[in-house]
Amino acid sequence: MINRKIIPALDVQDQKSLDFLINELSNEAKLLKVGMELFYTFGHEIVAKLKEKDFEIFLDLKLHDIPNTVGKSCKTLSRLGIDMLNVHAAGGVEMMKAAADGFKSGNEKGILLGVTQLTSTSQTVMNNELLIPGKTLDVVLKYAENAKKAGLDGVVCSAHEVRAIKKNIGEDFCCVTPGIRPKGSSSHDQKRVMTPSEALEAGSDYLVIGRAICQATSPKEAFQLILKEIS
Ligand code: C5P
Repeated sequence: MINRKIIPALDVQDQKSLDFLINELSNEAKLLKVGMELFYTFGHEIVAKLKEKDFEIFLDLKLHDIPNTVGKSCKTLSRLGIDMLNVHAAGGVEMMKAAADGFKSGNEKGILLGVTQLTSTSQTVMNNELLIPGKTLDVVLKYAENAKKAGLDGVVCSAHEVRAIKKNIGEDFCCVTPGIRPKGSSSHDQKRVMTPSEALEAGSDYLVIGRAICQATSPKEAFQLILKEIS
């Protein structure tokens, strides 16, 4: 059965790799993540092409600019008929409100998410490089609260933060979690990671999985192995 909770990230930059992935995943996944790599390589037509093949799309462009620019860009992107879009919560409540107004004007059903802290950002980097004091969890919770206030449907966060977000913001506030690593696989550049089953147990609504699926010799097998692990 096609799984809708696991979102493979199509992080590739050439047609051959893309065709291979689509072929491997067409009977496995429903939702696919189109991120910057794919979107900037192939342009917006890639969304229509994937939709023609009956996939749903999470467009992961992490918009972050002044409210007017983000609002108008979200309005344009809403016309692509995507299922999920995200903006950086670091842009603040006014920017996220503009994003929500723009996105919902052309796509009432689409899910708009705020990226809290990247799963590749450790607390040390957040404190010492970004000069954001305190604990990651507190910052993520505050950003999630801001996202809710601005009218967003949920956040992108690490699975470590899901329980607290659901408890404080609400069970129906959508939590999409990257930084997912099947048992025994490399963390790469990700710092706040969890296994698929731990993430689901914590309450994640959707798991974004990139390299563990898309760089596998057989992405189809890698996907099926993850399904086995969580069933
Ligand atoms: O390969 P890996 O599973 O680490 O890929 C994670 C994917 O999720 C990448 O496409 C990355 O851009 C995206 N992402 C993330 N952290 C966020 C938001 C999105 O890793 N906070």
